[in-house]
Amino acid sequence: MSAPVNVAIVGAGPSGCYVADALGRKLPGARIDIFDRLPTPFGLVRGGVAPDHQGTKNISRQFERTLGKDGVRFLGNVAVGRDTSYEELKAAYDVLVITIGALDDRRLGIPGENLDGVYGSGRFVAWYNGIPDGRDLEPKLDGKSVAIIGNGNVALDIARLLGKTPDELATSDLCAHARAAFAAAQVEDIWLIGRRGPLDASFTTAELAEFGELSRVATLVDATALPDTIPDGMADERKKIAARNLEVLRGYAARGDPDDRPLRVHFVFNAAPLAIQGEGRASELLLEKTRVEHGDAVSGGESFSIPADTVISAIGYRSTPFPDLPFDATRGVVANSEGRVEAGVYTAGWCKRGPQGVVPANRADALAVADLIIADLAGGQPGCKPGGAQIDSLLAQRGARPVDFAGWQNINAAEVAAGQGRPREKLVRIEELLAAANFAQR
Ligand code: NAP
Repeated sequence: MSAPVNVAIVGAGPSGCYVADALGRKLPGARIDIFDRLPTPFGLVRGGVAPDHQGTKNISRQFERTLGKDGVRFLGNVAVGRDTSYEELKAAYDVLVITIGALDDRRLGIPGENLDGVYGSGRFVAWYNGIPDGRDLEPKLDGKSVAIIGNGNVALDIARLLGKTPDELATSDLCAHARAAFAAAQVEDIWLIGRRGPLDASFTTAELAEFGELSRVATLVDATALPDTIPDGMADERKKIAARNLEVLRGYAARGDPDDRPLRVHFVFNAAPLAIQGEGRASELLLEKTRVEHGDAVSGGESFSIPADTVISAIGYRSTPFPDLPFDATRGVVANSEGRVEAGVYTAGWCKRGPQGVVPANRADALAVADLIIADLAGGQPGCKPGGAQIDSLLAQRGARPVDFAGWQNINAAEVAAGQGRPREKLVRIEELLAAANFAQR
């Protein structure tokens, strides 16, 4: 009988869990270690998916089963580059899979980006979703006007959460510190800025339509910005979404500005950011009117400003490499060819393809990479590396404090118990998480 294959997966988000599940099923006897820099698993399902979209988070039950399987170990609170290294993982495991997602904000590259009151969506979402290193952001929400740059679902998530009343957030797992900040916020106008037109927005219709259900929100759309028809030449699937989005936007335009709504969400299309202005703190966003040519936003030669005490850019993400990881700095992804990084090393998910696609798209990608690994193993000599015990002893020597699956279950139980009617109240400090992880094991 051949020796078991030793697999390390770095990143316990959806892609990492899907790869683990597929390899566990297809490589009987494999020993699979899933590392995460955080004491908690599930990546963006816990730290990215909007806290009021609990249905989307149900997938974590499936990931929980994967982490609990024989042959699979969760090693949370272990950061590659701090507690162990890329080279050590390559030396210990037959197969190394990098599924670290994309957490760094892409930069706007315009003047004023470093002013107080300007945040990337990654940092902002990490703050409200209780990712420990985002906890202390304390974004400024004391002004009347918030501009959100980008026409994707992340921009919608942020605008919707700001637009909901405390009652409308009651069934969410929005963290206590963010609930308090949102409840105290003085925002009256939220501007959603798209550099291209309404048909080019990457909103999904369900998320766009949710604004129509928010009790205190008026949805404002300039009817003249909406085209009468969808042009030929758009791919069928894209065309369907664009047509549905257009219908929702037409509804918003027709509804106008009911005067009983204290918070207005303005959909602004064909406006590219030029500069954020203000004395130390953002106060205005300077925009340039655009038109779309061959799919790109080009300058229309006219500029205008909107008030913006807070500016949030929701324009996509880059992965954060750890030392020695082959990295494509231009695209902000792990350097790879169809998921292969180098001999024995693979990648899947957002850090492979860029920050596009929801959880099911990452499932398909992860399964394809798992198949690639299995095909490569068939032609090689699996089971010849020492495996996880070698990393365990390095971690012990270095005083690392890995959180195992039982530790995560303790954290989970503590958070759910603290929820008091909410799905959970997240622990948002590393020390709190580690304390909760170990308590029941002592
Ligand atoms: P996204 O869908 O790629 O949207 C990014 C937006 O930023 C686009 O409108 C893009 O415009 C704009 N943009 C990029 N660079 C810009 C610049 N320099 N100036 C102005 N605008 C700029 O990304 P995302 O919203 O971060 O979402 C990431 C992925 O997660 C997506 O696949 C999304 O569907 C998914 N997600 C899904 C949900 C959900 O299903 N509820 C929630 C959140 C996220 P152009 O199109 O012109 O490039």
